[in-house]
Amino acid sequence: MTARPSFAIVGAGIGGLALAALLSRRGADVRLYEQARQFVRLGAGIQMGPNAMRVLRALGLEAGLRARAYAPPAWTNRVWDTGAYLPELTLGPEAEARYGASYLLMHRGDLHAALVSAVPAASIAHDHKLVGLEHNGAGVTLRFAGGASATADAVIGADGVHSKVREFLLGPEKPAFTGRVAHRAVFPAALMRGGPVETYTKWWGPDRHIVIYPVTAAHDETYFTTSVPDAAWDIESWSAEGDVAELRRAFAGFHDDVQRVLGACPRVHKWALFERDPLPRWTDGPVALLGDACHPMMPYMAQGGASALEDAAILARCLDGADDLAEAFGRYEATRHERTARLQLTSRENTWGKRKVDPAWVYGYDVWQTPIAAAPSGAQRDQWRQAYAT
Ligand SMILES: Cc1cc2nc3c(=O)[nH]c(=O)nc-3n(C[C@H](O)[C@H](O)[C@H](O)COP(=O)(O)OP(=O)(O)OC[C@H]3O[C@@H](n4cnc5c(N)ncnc54)[C@H](O)[C@@H]3O)c2cc1C
Repeated sequence: MTARPSFAIVGAGIGGLALAALLSRRGADVRLYEQARQFVRLGAGIQMGPNAMRVLRALGLEAGLRARAYAPPAWTNRVWDTGAYLPELTLGPEAEARYGASYLLMHRGDLHAALVSAVPAASIAHDHKLVGLEHNGAGVTLRFAGGASATADAVIGADGVHSKVREFLLGPEKPAFTGRVAHRAVFPAALMRGGPVETYTKWWGPDRHIVIYPVTAAHDETYFTTSVPDAAWDIESWSAEGDVAELRRAFAGFHDDVQRVLGACPRVHKWALFERDPLPRWTDGPVALLGDACHPMMPYMAQGGASALEDAAILARCLDGADDLAEAFGRYEATRHERTARLQLTSRENTWGKRKVDPAWVYGYDVWQTPIAAAPSGAQRDQWRQAYAT
């Protein structure tokens, strides 16, 4: 390894950008490879809980996001047809006082743009789709579609649920299609009769739900995301559009407040939901995985992006002053494994926010104070393998 190790991060999504920003601030030699030719403002909202906000705060992004985002007083739950109120999760000032950071709802594009602004532009290489990875004693070689290649002392795969880096590490294995899809749309609130949506509400139907909230403090953009059974649609692409009429049929009979939103929605994205069981390992020598690449989860706790941010912060801490990168990667994995497995398994239940539970284990997690674990032993890995075998 060289005196100042070089890091190649694959994927400029939420986790990859956060890691690049944190490592760059520590003076590391970082290069971020992204398959997309350019960044576009993707049409979705995203929730950032206090645990995620602590990472964004450290990157100096909290104030800007807070000024633009919507801070809901509660995660409100209602019955799909009658509109009856179910138990809710208190957010707002009470949660902020308890967890030391706010819970914000924002446009995903605003979050992404904020993260991009925290990374030196020269360290991002667009139009670099990873297709090959080899490591030998001298470092790791990355090969990209089109023939380009690069080398680095260490590689972090932050390349999402269909991660190529995961494939090189653990062999090809597709994530499981859950037979469910999420419809997502952000549109101007002005299109709605009766004024903008003012709250965060999850509407619970027998086999489907819809979550609706404003993504700006001004309430001028409305977002919704659904979960609907649809075994015939396994396409996961931001360019895949759904059929608004079909969506409205899927939510026929839902409360008028839902109809008001769906009636005004001009276009919708349709996104197949994939997940994995917790993996037995995320690292191998100088290669590590981060975010959805190693622990994709159902979106029902709104914690997938948050845990990618947590990963980035813990990994940056583990790399602080590290002489042995593989050992630092092992400590990162051991520190993060149990928590992310619990998030994956809890998300799958789809009861978060509704069932009476103390959310402190999720929102109170402080990436900057959590103790760093020792690198996992073989016995520890066996335990993980057995614990999560299905
Ligand atoms: C419907 C829905 C709602 C959600 N809501 C929330 C929420 O409210 N809050 C929350 O915290 N999370 C939420 N999530 C989860 C969140 O979107 C993901 O967990 C998060 O995006 C994961 O971040 P990541 O950086 O690991 O991967 P991604 O954001 O998927 O980024 C991966 C990046 O890698 C790039 N890439 C992929 N393959 C290659 C390759 N071969 N070479 C180079 N680049 C490559 C991609 O182009 C992309 O830029 C939601 C997810 C869904 C589906």
